[in-house]
Amino acid sequence: MSTRRTFLVAGAATAAAVAASTPARAAAPDRELRRILREIDPARVEAIVRRLVSFGTRHTLSAQDDPVRGIGAARDWIFAELERHATASDGRMTVEQQSFVQPVSPRVPVPTRITNVVATLRGSVTPERIYVVTGHYDSRVTDVMDAVKDAPGADDDASGVAVIMELARVFATRRPEATLVFAAVAGEEQGLYGSDHMAQAYKDAGADIQAMFSNDIVGTGNAHDGTRNDPRTVRLFVEGVPTSETPAEATTRKSTGGENDGPSRQLGRFVKDVEPDEMNVRIVWRRDRYLRGSDHISFLLRGYPAARFTEPRENFNHEHQDVRVENGVQYGDLPEFCDFGYIARVARVNAAALWSLAQAPGTPKGVVIDATQLTNTTTLRWQPGTEPDLAGYEVVWRETTAPDWQHSLPVGNVSTVTVDLSKDNVLFGVRAVDTTGHRSPAAAPKP
Ligand SMILES: [Zn+2]
Repeated sequence: MSTRRTFLVAGAATAAAVAASTPARAAAPDRELRRILREIDPARVEAIVRRLVSFGTRHTLSAQDDPVRGIGAARDWIFAELERHATASDGRMTVEQQSFVQPVSPRVPVPTRITNVVATLRGSVTPERIYVVTGHYDSRVTDVMDAVKDAPGADDDASGVAVIMELARVFATRRPEATLVFAAVAGEEQGLYGSDHMAQAYKDAGADIQAMFSNDIVGTGNAHDGTRNDPRTVRLFVEGVPTSETPAEATTRKSTGGENDGPSRQLGRFVKDVEPDEMNVRIVWRRDRYLRGSDHISFLLRGYPAARFTEPRENFNHEHQDVRVENGVQYGDLPEFCDFGYIARVARVNAAALWSLAQAPGTPKGVVIDATQLTNTTTLRWQPGTEPDLAGYEVVWRETTAPDWQHSLPVGNVSTVTVDLSKDNVLFGVRAVDTTGHRSPAAAPKP
């Protein structure tokens, strides 16, 4: 591509013209990340899924105090396992049972205690910056109100809980720069109640959640329906127009675009950039599948960037079904339909995303595009970051019709820059870079 002229009008003197236009890819996995990926163990994943299935049902309305059957037994086991993992963290990982009473609601006929089991690994440099990953440990059968029948929930969603538990084990011995939260939430099938409570608690505390991932139905690339196995693909659903968009923001968007540049879309681009070689993250530009949702929506409602991992093709005979054989067809969410190597690979996709997010600087905040004058240049401003290893910023851009960033331009450790490109013709983002080359997700500017 051609060389562009750039004027750096940041506080510091000036700047020579800067040669531009390198591809916009993120850095290769660092050595620590490669070790993390190797430690994620399919045998441990299998043991977790089978143990969760052994509780018979994990329905949110099932027994809370039976030591062997029901959601209470599952809750206590998950808590004990995460506490055990936390012992390897020198006190940096803490595990809590986040309980509340859900009042009577459409799928909750009596006030019911719901408990999220939450392991928090405190960041070593910027602990106030938080990344959250969840699976839901409640399960269901055909009748969403049936708390008695066996509801194995192997794929939906013991697989997602296995992801977060295995990640907690492997990360407990690491020192990520930002805080990582590994959570098994409940009440999902009754109406996302556990994650809703969790997201609201973060919001009330003013927590800086910079990304959240729900792992829900990540059990296999094989739909067992005669179609080809697709064991190296996981879908990531990322919304476009933010669920939390205000009417004023909608007015601006209608005027100048940006449907494809919400914080969740930027997160999707970031995850794709750091996917491990062994997996293809298939980004889907929707909040979720038709008729379905998951715990990421609780975070999107509060304005946090969030996305949902799920397997490439589902078999609906194996989800939300009574365990039975009908006309020779096995129904039910059984572990025999899971591929534990696949779940481990999905855990590695999460690990790569979380580690890369935590080691990079935070996403730039307060990014503004100067729209006060008619010019053929573009002036961007943002709040300076506070990370001690912050090296500077890059401006990225692409054609308005292109899906992903096409160009990046290092602009130094400044908080405003004027670029010799018309804001009318391309889409911009700003990302932060540290001294070892880790790049943050991009933030699209607002006028
Ligand atoms: Zn689910």
